[in-house]
Amino acid sequence: MKALVPFEDVRAEILAAVSVLEPVEVPLTDAHGLVLAEAVATDEDVPPFANTAMDGYAVRAEDTAGAGPNAPVRLRVVGDLPAGRAPDRAVGAGEAIRIMTGAPMPDGADAVVMVERTTADGDEVAIEAEAGVGDHVRRAGGDLVRGQEVFPAGTRLLGAHLGVLASIGASSVRAHPRPRVGVLSTGDELTEAGAALAPGQIRDSNRPMLVALAREAGFAPVDLGVARDDEDRITALLEEALDRCDAVLTSGGVSVGDYDYVKAALDRLGHLEWRQVAIKPAKPLAFGVVRGVPVFGLPGNPVSSLVSFELFARPALLQRAGDPLRFRPEVTARAEHAFTRKPDGKLHLDRVRVRWQSSDREQAGYVAGRTGDQASNVLSATAAANALAMIPDGVGIAAGEQVRVMLLDAPPDH
Ligand code: AMP
Ligand code: MG
Repeated sequence: MKALVPFEDVRAEILAAVSVLEPVEVPLTDAHGLVLAEAVATDEDVPPFANTAMDGYAVRAEDTAGAGPNAPVRLRVVGDLPAGRAPDRAVGAGEAIRIMTGAPMPDGADAVVMVERTTADGDEVAIEAEAGVGDHVRRAGGDLVRGQEVFPAGTRLLGAHLGVLASIGASSVRAHPRPRVGVLSTGDELTEAGAALAPGQIRDSNRPMLVALAREAGFAPVDLGVARDDEDRITALLEEALDRCDAVLTSGGVSVGDYDYVKAALDRLGHLEWRQVAIKPAKPLAFGVVRGVPVFGLPGNPVSSLVSFELFARPALLQRAGDPLRFRPEVTARAEHAFTRKPDGKLHLDRVRVRWQSSDREQAGYVAGRTGDQASNVLSATAAANALAMIPDGVGIAAGEQVRVMLLDAPPDH
């Protein structure tokens, strides 16, 4: 029997073997979810000019001294400035220019009085509040200053980042490409989707699941279909996948059964690392880097497949995508019930639902409870879970004690 290896050791071994994809220049329109390969600086101020944050009147603050609801100061209105128009005159003593949010501050003016504190009266405006220098004025460069670093390398570009990049006039960025992740199911028992089940057959749940998990992590999944339990066929499919994928996930065929051909195929390709990981579920894992492409032979049981993806493939592929934030967040939660188990030399990863609880009697905090049957084929309980509870080897955790959980999703607040 092969020795059980702690999951941290296996993960470290995998992370050490997986390289980061070479950066490319990507148009902003394709950059969503990608990770910056180099820092971005701005050669423009944002905003590019001082402008008003309010609809109102651009004034000289000193002209409004003493103004109040019962003591209005009257100023002569000498212009009208909508957003998008450059001022064509300055604000002189005793003058004001009507101005709309986003319009540039005219010369001479150093404050804006919001329209709600004014009453228009023909060519004049009654100012009913005193303005301080800079009131409601957005400075040029108040968001970003020319020359400044905007984002460091390693930033994952989400919506707000793309907005900022657009605001500095960037049309492309240097980023790591989105890893193309091939997903292959193996097993003679698997039917084609939509087909009736013949005796002994089951449906292929791993492929749609892994395709979706890959997409959720920001990768580009490539559906490689189902391979029969045939060593030549699996080897050929893997060979083919290596040309068009940056990583490959297979499921099934990695334990110690008679038909476990993924191991054999990886061995033939010359790069099999096979581990018996000290975890439950997801003990067997085949791994190899073939021609620079990492291949993860995940276990066949759907729950094991998911857990193995979460523990090993996802962090490694995030690393491949250049993301320094490779790991799921971990928090401690209060055990809602006893997590009983027997000593077996393994870390147990129970599928749990974590929620944030705040009540008068107890301190606010996370609580965690199992979502159902913990057998490695019961995928429905995994679908109901949003976290993996990490129950160390031993006899388990008593109700009310703290349990460490790896969050797969944001916990709800109830
Ligand atoms: P294996 O490691 O290939 O022996 O598979 C272990 C268990 O997982 C068996 O019960 C398989 O039928 C099941 N299994 C393998 N692949 C899949 C899949 N793609 N979808 C659902 N179950 C699977
Ligand atoms: Mg199989």
